[in-house]
Amino acid sequence: GSLVIAVDGTSGSGKSSTSRGVADRLGLRYLDTGAMFRAMTWWLLREGIDVRDTAAVAAAAGRPTIESGTDPLGPTITVDGTDVSVEIRADEVNAAVSPVSAVPEVRARLLDLQREAIGGGGIVVEGRDIGSVVWPQAEVKVYLSADPDARAQRRTAEQGGTDVASTQQSLLERDRIDSGRATAPLTMAEGAVHVDSTHLTLAEVIDRIVALAEA
Ligand code: C5P
Repeated sequence: GSLVIAVDGTSGSGKSSTSRGVADRLGLRYLDTGAMFRAMTWWLLREGIDVRDTAAVAAAAGRPTIESGTDPLGPTITVDGTDVSVEIRADEVNAAVSPVSAVPEVRARLLDLQREAIGGGGIVVEGRDIGSVVWPQAEVKVYLSADPDARAQRRTAEQGGTDVASTQQSLLERDRIDSGRATAPLTMAEGAVHVDSTHLTLAEVIDRIVALAEA
């Protein structure tokens, strides 16, 4: 079918696990747009481009070839043919990705790739601006949130770390930049259903979204 499910929300709200679970349940593809911004950021850092230099980032944004594999059970992301699924989760990328994502030329480049991947539909797409900008015609739009404490605890456990306070600081800093930027800021899209996952299990969140899709 042509179903498109847009899942937007704050950093660490559980978008990835939720979106993959929904896609698996419904037999849909899965697109992680955050991974595309992370891949761009990883490439800029590797090229030695100053990620705070907006003009340099804008000028370079067209150069890397970024490709996303859309299997919800094994999503992949490559830059110029190299799989960077692990590298894009590094601390240096976490710290640089929000400033890079605020550059309009970066967004325009990735927007084309995103719309191409979404194509005929049959896909769950997660990000910050999917329901508002990338695919406002999505049949189902979800805005996923959770309390900062819950998000930091989950993310720290996921990474096998112990420093919940610094994880929380990093999440909140990204939220601040993502919500405050001029181009496609993180916002609840028109028609989106707000799901607060603070007191829900992953299975409960997935059930809710599957129910919305089947309604
Ligand atoms: O979803 P994830 O946390 O991996 O996204 C990393 C960053 O990529 C976000 O903090 C945001 O700066 C950027 N992003 C974005 N628009 C999207 C998806 C991600 O600006 N649709």
